[in-house]
Amino acid sequence: MFGLKKTVQETEHTSSYYAATANDKTVYQKLEGEIKTDVVVVGGGFSGVNTALELAEKGYAVVLLEAKRIAWGATGRNGGQIIAGIGSPAKFERTIGKSGVNAIYEMGFEASEVIRERVAKYNIDCDLKWGYCDVAIKPRHMKELEQWQAQTKKDGNPHQLQMLDQHEVKQFVNSDNYIGGLFNPTGNGHVHPLNLCAGEAHAASELGVQIFEQSKVTNIEHGSRVKVHTDCGKVDAKFLVLCGNAYMGELVPKLATKILPSNSSVIATAPLPSEIVNAIMPADVAVCDPRTALDYFRLSADKRLLFGGLSNYTGLEPTDLKATMAKKMLKVFPELAGIDIDYGWSGQMGIGLNRMPQLGNLADNIFYVQAYSGHGVAPTHMMARVIAEAIDGKPERFNILAKIHHWSFPGGKLFRRPALAIGMMYYKILDEL
Ligand SMILES: Cc1cc2nc3c(=O)[nH]c(=O)nc-3n(C[C@H](O)[C@H](O)[C@H](O)COP(=O)(O)OP(=O)(O)OC[C@H]3O[C@@H](n4cnc5c(N)ncnc54)[C@H](O)[C@@H]3O)c2cc1C
Repeated sequence: MFGLKKTVQETEHTSSYYAATANDKTVYQKLEGEIKTDVVVVGGGFSGVNTALELAEKGYAVVLLEAKRIAWGATGRNGGQIIAGIGSPAKFERTIGKSGVNAIYEMGFEASEVIRERVAKYNIDCDLKWGYCDVAIKPRHMKELEQWQAQTKKDGNPHQLQMLDQHEVKQFVNSDNYIGGLFNPTGNGHVHPLNLCAGEAHAASELGVQIFEQSKVTNIEHGSRVKVHTDCGKVDAKFLVLCGNAYMGELVPKLATKILPSNSSVIATAPLPSEIVNAIMPADVAVCDPRTALDYFRLSADKRLLFGGLSNYTGLEPTDLKATMAKKMLKVFPELAGIDIDYGWSGQMGIGLNRMPQLGNLADNIFYVQAYSGHGVAPTHMMARVIAEAIDGKPERFNILAKIHHWSFPGGKLFRRPALAIGMMYYKILDEL
């Protein structure tokens, strides 16, 4: 069992492999004084930056306010796994109809395409690679992957997925832990997320978006024009989009009750010799296992193993993060014993009860999105597009997603964490059976 501690919230990037290898060192100024604009976006992660970029591409004047640094939150800390799909829309057919379900499947496939297009259009240097492998630990996981392969084909997945047996999976991830897998060669992949987001912010800024860092929004005034306040400034806008996700705290208490900020941790080894790389991860794909507290891993461009996991609903990070994560990594790849761990960090992701991204309106001119439940690299790009469409007078796709009801977590502020931590423990026990 590992110890847990409260995460200190620094104002600069956490000391991750991503921050150490950031290409774009731009420091955006702090907001001072008052600005009038069409749209003010709060939060400089993938959701906020891409909403700003989509709107700027449509000709809107946009101000983006980030409390710390661009990509400071989950966006600059995640596993970098690009996974297409947006939740399980079929569960909501009674609310959104068959056509709504199909529209969300299409948005799920489009989500990865937005990244592909954006990187090409703006020439973003972010180590983008395609190829992803879901791995199976138990025979029932193989059955689930087979069912998933058949279902996603029916749902219109344009990418050809391939089942892998115990021998074939080793060509992608050579660990004795796995008995097979499902390979997606072109629809899923991996990326340096901080460099992707910084590149997107740069593109937005070139299109005229005014970006401010170290500019935390502390108060929102509703009205026919909405006003947001920071400690040194104010933005007066026709529209507000809230993209603070798991780091937004109690700025909007109603939204805070629907999201549980949960912790996940990642380590980066020292660069691995090519014979080890070829032995353990010969195909350079991203890998995820099927458990509740899953392991996710991949190689970086300079051939480190980036190994993530240890997701927990306490919102706390392990006291000895590097050692705890290294132990987990060695269970998958014992041959890495003795390899240095150069970086270790953690971040907060927003979990929602029904595992669908939450997007909607607090007023006609106030939009929000949050709660990607640990699966947001691609979906953030799609939700940003959908919100920009709604602001631009084309709300059809937004309306489908906004119809889905999102319950608050039971137990109020005090008890929702313990209740969920117990729930997660239950699913972890099931994973072992
Ligand atoms: C360790 C970890 C690993 C993960 N791995 C993966 C993965 O491999 N694949 C995947 O698909 N997903 C993964 N995720 C999830 C994914 O990173 C998130 O879903 C996604 O980045 C969410 O982006 P966001 O912009 O909505 O939120 P964030 O990136 O968290 O951005 C929110 C931003 O809002 C700012 N903010 C908050 N309040 C205010 C305020 N009042 N004023 C101004 N700014 C404010 C914050 O400072 C922050 O920068 C992972 C998450 C974590 C934490």
